[in-house]
Amino acid sequence: MSRIVIVGGGSGGIMVAARLRNTLSMDEAKITIVDRSDKHVYQPAFTLVAFGLDEPENLVRPMASVIPPGVTFIHDEVVSITPDGNYIETKGGRKLEYDYLILGSGAKYNWDEIEGLKDNLGKDGVHTFYTLEGSVGTKKAIEEFEGGEFVVIQPPMPFKCPGAPLKMAMMAEDYFTRKGIRNKVNVTLTTALPSVFSREPYASKLTEIFKNRNIHVETGFNPGKIDPDNKIVKSWEGKEIKYDIAVVTPHNEGEDVYEDSPVADPSNFIKADKHKLISDAFDNIYAIGDCANYPTSKTGAGARKQAEVLARNLAAKIRGQEGKASYTGHTICPLLTRHGKALFAEFDYDKSISPAEEMWSSWILKVYMLRPLYWSLMLRGRL
Ligand SMILES: Cc1cc2nc3c(=O)[nH]c(=O)nc-3n(C[C@H](O)[C@H](O)[C@H](O)COP(=O)(O)OP(=O)(O)OC[C@H]3O[C@@H](n4cnc5c(N)ncnc54)[C@H](O)[C@@H]3O)c2cc1C
Repeated sequence: MSRIVIVGGGSGGIMVAARLRNTLSMDEAKITIVDRSDKHVYQPAFTLVAFGLDEPENLVRPMASVIPPGVTFIHDEVVSITPDGNYIETKGGRKLEYDYLILGSGAKYNWDEIEGLKDNLGKDGVHTFYTLEGSVGTKKAIEEFEGGEFVVIQPPMPFKCPGAPLKMAMMAEDYFTRKGIRNKVNVTLTTALPSVFSREPYASKLTEIFKNRNIHVETGFNPGKIDPDNKIVKSWEGKEIKYDIAVVTPHNEGEDVYEDSPVADPSNFIKADKHKLISDAFDNIYAIGDCANYPTSKTGAGARKQAEVLARNLAAKIRGQEGKASYTGHTICPLLTRHGKALFAEFDYDKSISPAEEMWSSWILKVYMLRPLYWSLMLRGRL
């Protein structure tokens, strides 16, 4: 019997565990998930919470309730991995040996990378919607805002759901318009990139939307410091932006447990083959989701596709066959552009797939359908 250990019971970890369990019998594999959290959180709806389109309690479930039947859950933190010895160790003193290790530990926020961010978060105009608590605070701030400088700050890539800050800027602009205070608000989005989005045809369409709606885009801006006394965000390039509300996405990196490990790059993201999802250094280690260095957007949609490929190939390997599935880099950024409209940017490593169109049907899918589908089908490996 093969022992499969999965680090992380987030979107990627649960989806791949479910698909493996749906395929492999109890005699073929013992599957164990280790997560330091006893809750599973549906992060793609944080943006919806910030605009009152979903409720925080709909986004959180006990981890035990999403663990697939036949999979063991250990509530503990992984503190070291020893690929040469095929085992991991936990804070609680466990030593778990594996035949196959799947890393699905997500992306870690580095709150210290922007000076002043951690100390001022949630106070006096500095907010984030990259945590559930933060999205509730951002909602309150947006609702109470009466005018001034509304600034959305992005870190340099890579960070998860790179479309999310764009949604924040567009949805906030739309909210202020519908509330009748648009003439009192300036909306700005900062980006370290040279344009608002990296992929065509979405980049041109989004540039047009931002221009038509007078949302200023400050390009080439790497945020370095928040000065709460003067209400200014400073960039490493020496630019300064005044804010009354600053909605900040923190810098992302991999988990500390991979520090100096041969499995990870200097930012602690796992180095793995972008098609086969196998570690560059160890052929019994796989990476799924935000923890991996795949050159595509870090999204739950991407993790879902990776789960399909990884489970098929690993199940084949365990059965002594050759796994032929390949991850194409497929990902979807569902960009809410205004109340009632969304533009889905769907692409893979090589090509853009969906048209750059704002659609009502995409709004309905994102706002009303994806979360129920996630809990009922995606986490069970059925979609
Ligand atoms: C604001 C926002 C908006 C988003 N919008 C969308 C969207 O519209 N569409 C979309 O597809 N995606 C969206 N995403 C991205 C999506 O949520 C992530 O890509 C997805 O959750 C990645 O899954 P994951 O399993 O890699 O990581 P996660 O779901 O973050 O799970 C990682 C798990 O690993 C555990 N872990 C980490 N380190 C350890 C350790 N050392 N020991 C034990 N456990 C550990 C954590 O506790 C966590 O449970 C959004 C994200 C945010 C923040």
